[in-house]
Amino acid sequence: MQKEKLYGKTLNELIVVTRRIRLPGFAAKQIADWLYKKEIISIDEMTNLSKKMRELLSNDYEIGLSSPVSVAESLDGTKKYLFKVLNDKYIETAYIPDKERATICVSSQAGCKMGCVFCLTGKQGFQGNLSSNEILNQFRCLPEFRKITNMVFMGMGEPLDNITEVMKSLDIMTSEWGYGWSPARITVSTVGLKNTIKEFLEKSRCHLAVSLHSPFDEERRKLMPVQGTNSIREVLDIIRGFDFTKQRRVSFEYILFQGMNDTSRHIKELARILNGIKCRVNIIRFHHYTGSDLRSPDIGAVIDFKEALNAKGILTTIRTSRGVDIGAPCGLLSTAELNKK
Ligand code: SF4
Repeated sequence: MQKEKLYGKTLNELIVVTRRIRLPGFAAKQIADWLYKKEIISIDEMTNLSKKMRELLSNDYEIGLSSPVSVAESLDGTKKYLFKVLNDKYIETAYIPDKERATICVSSQAGCKMGCVFCLTGKQGFQGNLSSNEILNQFRCLPEFRKITNMVFMGMGEPLDNITEVMKSLDIMTSEWGYGWSPARITVSTVGLKNTIKEFLEKSRCHLAVSLHSPFDEERRKLMPVQGTNSIREVLDIIRGFDFTKQRRVSFEYILFQGMNDTSRHIKELARILNGIKCRVNIIRFHHYTGSDLRSPDIGAVIDFKEALNAKGILTTIRTSRGVDIGAPCGLLSTAELNKK
């Protein structure tokens, strides 16, 4: 019989575990401590639980950590790890060192339902939601685990389409009984799902990043089919109901494609729809990959676009592409792995 994994359980879930096997109530907090603060790899190491208690726990449970199956390393220090999940699927995790910061980019699903036309993960289709164990295992089992300062949910999948497991992961990362991180070290990126974005904004204090890519409905729908049912205007209205003037930030990701979303018309409309929201726009230069009809703009066009938006009063930055030599587009490694089968 397969044992249930303890790593990735919230304190409330650990309380349920202790009740189920008749351990004293205080044991849940002790187990959380061993899992998230003392970084053990086996139940036997939980030495403040009696031998009998450890035996009871081991009968049905295991810690449940799993190492990456491969890694690709870029000349710029970025690493992309491949993890096996859901028995036979693959997900990617990026480790991005940058001066005193080191960011981990985690996946929340294997594949994705959203079908954004510029995305390789979208082309894989949906293969399954990751559990909070599989989400946080990417963090815990990275060889650089102790160096990580920031976490972004920008890997494979749409985090708000797997809201339950993503919220559990955030709870573990930011609670005092868990890793105790400040929510300001974590950013969750979304295409903008109106049914779950509100829950995320109400129940967490982590930063939000919204993939925008075009301010025009029809054009955005062609790039991101989700626009058909979750219009950016409705999503912006929800965002306007929350306070982003203090610790919490909202940013808008804008992948720039040559000859598509890079005109002065786009700049004007972006400034109009973002009016009144304290935010930042991150411009990302599209990197062409084999099989895509979309084109990369030259770097001068990216700088011009940024400056024009800044001139309209919108704080705009260019996000440097990292790991280009190992396949910057998310989904490249896992697609190659799937194709081997
Ligand atoms: S860009 Fe994100 S939401 Fe869109 S298909 Fe790719 S993984 Fe899914």
